[in-house]
Amino acid sequence: MTHVIAIDGPSGSGKSSTSRGVATKLGYAYLDTGAMYRAMTWAMLQRGIDVNDADAVAAAAADVTLTSGTDPQDPTIHADGVDVSEPIRGDEVTAAVSPVATVPQVRQQLVDLQRELIAGAADGIVVEGRDIGTVVAPDASLKVYLVADPVARAQRRALELGVEDAEAMRQALARRDAIDSTRKTAPLAQADDAVVVDGTHLTLDEVIDHIVGLAQR
Ligand code: C5P
Repeated sequence: MTHVIAIDGPSGSGKSSTSRGVATKLGYAYLDTGAMYRAMTWAMLQRGIDVNDADAVAAAAADVTLTSGTDPQDPTIHADGVDVSEPIRGDEVTAAVSPVATVPQVRQQLVDLQRELIAGAADGIVVEGRDIGTVVAPDASLKVYLVADPVARAQRRALELGVEDAEAMRQALARRDAIDSTRKTAPLAQADDAVVVDGTHLTLDEVIDHIVGLAQR
């Protein structure tokens, strides 16, 4: 049976570095579902679609082909055959992704794809996102809900991206969290059986080791 480790939580809580580290230590595959929503958003912007027009987004989504590579050392993401790993981290996509992720047709399409990738993982897979423990993989062997203090999250993310204004970063993360947690379909939420891990006062390695310990229990 494939072991699935679900890692959910708000933006900037350290899910990506943590998930990749856990997958590497356990020899598991790794799936960044946020990258898939970002790649879908890139494809919408590329087509000149208004991301706040849910009907237009829904109509265009079926036409977008996404491919995700699941090696934790070298995760890849392509949209319509184009390597979008860099542009999906830019401001334009980051500002537009949460509205795109509210559209039910987009979510259904990506959840189907995510389940296929999970089913294809040989040994185990670490899947990070917002709705993994609640919707995508409700039978996951371990569910982690990773949180961190909002000010600490903003400072860390600002440092990563070389942005000086940590307060503006805190507001941008809060805006994204607000849309993600209040949407009707599959909002950001802690699964009832998730273990909450607070990374505020821990190093990355400490968080990874803690989760690997939980997985090995
Ligand atoms: O994790 P990341 O910050 O890259 O995710 C980008 C956005 O994609 C989130 O703010 C959210 O709107 C959306 N997302 C989602 N469900 C997931 C993963 C990401 O709605 N499972």
